[in-house]
Amino acid sequence: MEIKKSLLEDLNNEQQNAVTTDNQYTVVLAGAGSGKTRVLVHRIAWLCMEKHYSPQSIFAVTFTNKAAVEMQERIKALVGEGYFSGMWIGTFHGLTHRLLRMFSQQARLPSNFQLIDSEDQIRLIKRIFKEHKVDEKQWSAKECAAFISSQKEMGLRANDMSPQDPKQVMWQTIYQDYQAICDRVGYVDFSELILRAYELLSQNSDVLNYCHQRFSNILIDEFQDTNLIQYRLVKKLAGITANVMIVGDDDQSIYSWRGANADNLQLFINDYPDTEIIRLEQNYRSTSNILDAANILIAKNQNRLGKNLWTDSGEGEKISLYVGFNDIDEARFVIGQIKKRHEEGDKYSSCAILYRNNVQSRIFEDTLLQAGLPYQIYGSIRFYERQEVKLALAYLRLLHDHSNDMAFDATVNTPTRGIGNVTLDKVRLTAKQHNLSLWDACLMLIQTNALTERQRSGLSRFLELMESIHKEVEPLPFYQQLDVMIKLSGVQQMYEQEPGIKGQSRLENLEELVSAAEQFYHNNENTVIQDNITGKTLTVLESFLAFTSLESRDVVKAQDSVQLMTLHSAKGLEFDNVFIVGLEEGIFPAQRSVKDSERMEEERRLAYVGITRARKHLTLTLCELRRLYGRDERNLPSRFLAELPVEKLNEVSYRGMITSSEFKSNDLSKKDLSKNEQFILDRKKSYLEKQRESDGYILGRKVKHHRFGEGTIINFDGEGDHKRVQIAFVDEGVKWLVIKLANLTLL
Ligand code: ATP
Ligand code: MG
Repeated sequence: MEIKKSLLEDLNNEQQNAVTTDNQYTVVLAGAGSGKTRVLVHRIAWLCMEKHYSPQSIFAVTFTNKAAVEMQERIKALVGEGYFSGMWIGTFHGLTHRLLRMFSQQARLPSNFQLIDSEDQIRLIKRIFKEHKVDEKQWSAKECAAFISSQKEMGLRANDMSPQDPKQVMWQTIYQDYQAICDRVGYVDFSELILRAYELLSQNSDVLNYCHQRFSNILIDEFQDTNLIQYRLVKKLAGITANVMIVGDDDQSIYSWRGANADNLQLFINDYPDTEIIRLEQNYRSTSNILDAANILIAKNQNRLGKNLWTDSGEGEKISLYVGFNDIDEARFVIGQIKKRHEEGDKYSSCAILYRNNVQSRIFEDTLLQAGLPYQIYGSIRFYERQEVKLALAYLRLLHDHSNDMAFDATVNTPTRGIGNVTLDKVRLTAKQHNLSLWDACLMLIQTNALTERQRSGLSRFLELMESIHKEVEPLPFYQQLDVMIKLSGVQQMYEQEPGIKGQSRLENLEELVSAAEQFYHNNENTVIQDNITGKTLTVLESFLAFTSLESRDVVKAQDSVQLMTLHSAKGLEFDNVFIVGLEEGIFPAQRSVKDSERMEEERRLAYVGITRARKHLTLTLCELRRLYGRDERNLPSRFLAELPVEKLNEVSYRGMITSSEFKSNDLSKKDLSKNEQFILDRKKSYLEKQRESDGYILGRKVKHHRFGEGTIINFDGEGDHKRVQIAFVDEGVKWLVIKLANLTLL
């Protein structure tokens, strides 16, 4: 009785129904912040504590690793540590990886198969291009990699494809070769994980039976963003006996560009006709100002199932809107606000800066560094995918497994050892001809006359270096091995020589890597990861290497720090203070979505996701002049700003141009409603009018003056003979000039 009470007491009636349902198939369909994830957590606890299912029966899927960790912690808090072990909670990638490790033999994979990320994938494809004499300028390896992934997401092997045009015929061949190489050497890319797991279950009845017997409870969060192969995997895994609960929100479907399909929610309901559908309508996350704004925005979308969301948590503050003079001003404003919040007692980690594109993070990163605030970037420059981190891990891999060609490639001439491409091509050819690893091919070549003296000595020195490091570090635990190796291999020295802050931060990341390895080692030293069917054990090192491949999506640092991430990776999370930045046409919504109504709806869903991350304070920012990709841009304010109800917005005082490098944070001065409304309307109008000017003197246009030289038009006013332009000259600063008198040349 006690348990029942504590598991259910913080839930409303609908949530309780979902948690306790005895229906085999349940869909919880509800808007942001309505407690869907909370329902899943409590349901897992309920199944174990109240229904006496074994924790081993739980197979729960989250969208990110961060969400998986959070879910695990919440469940632990409810059911206790001891009870918890044996549950499978993770992302589709994490869980299928685990399944494939357990049953690698049945999945026809070598037991030490290696995960490869998109960069590795592209490198491999480039090599195949080379073999096929495909012109890299004409054909994009990146596009090809994306194509292969999309085929896998639809469950298609190269043989299953029906190519539509010559390009696809080409991609099909590359796909075939790419997969053959991966299978031969044991590389598994991210989409392969899921397809391979699906095939494993489809083709191997023992494994399927094992799963059916074990996983009697399948629970999936963020179901609106599953793709076809994930959906099939779920169905396969569920069989006919498992209890399945899926939760989702069609308004938060933001991954269709990666093959996700919100229709899977409907498909599920059709496929399992006796599905119980539970709707949750109370939002527990946000104030009503924030929630109302989100609801009004998303109502602009045509294509939605539609739902109501309300909250009783009070109006809260209005949404702040800030227009910076330029992107530096925008970033300084945001950081100033965060500082202020922190001084008022908020943690840094309660503040999130959300942006549409990863490139936008740099300026915030720089500004945070200057201000000396701790921060953490999720998703974008993935910690374990940073160049220096990958390099150090490649050394570790090669040290333990000479046959790892990917690791060999990454390390052989980094730092430079005078081993050139001609030499390496010979090594690759020998490896191919004799079916050897690159390492063994080197050994073989060194014995023959096929190399020049220089080539031979280059390669031998590398092999000897690795052997000597091996001797040196062998008795040490692997995190110490990593530390010693970074020094002995020349990696440290290489980065010490890299000028400026970049080299420094690379060295810091290497230190961070060693400490992450140490932490992992101590946490897992005594946990042998063993499967009781296959009897297979993973060493701590193997688990660590697998961890670094999978966790690359988001690393959790303990320090209290400002959170930076794309809007996409913010899904499912919540923060007291949210800053959505760069609200400009062409950025958010993204340029490529502007002309396509379906894509525009997805952008709007993304805005909905962003806004609904905020619990208490939401700040939206944009700027007038932005330097992006090396160009100065003047964008119109985002249409989403105009779609938000003006009475919920509060314009933060507009300061115009910053001249002083000293930055003072702005006060959120309260302004009245009409002023806000006027502000947005005026701004939109003036931008549009200005851009429509037809005499060529438009914003952003480059001009030349006979005395002041080249500059860019940044503003203008007046008409006819009186029309003036404001020009930012490259050398002469900003000046107002009357067009008629100035004798300007349009460039
Ligand atoms: P999203 O769609 O963004 O993933 P969600 O529907 O999964 O949101 P949760 O993250 O589960 O929502 O819940 C949002 C917040 O509301 C959390 O802080 C959660 O703890 C809280 N919450 C949910 N239900 C209740 C409740 N019945 N009482 C109090 N707080 C609740
Ligand atoms: Mg959620």
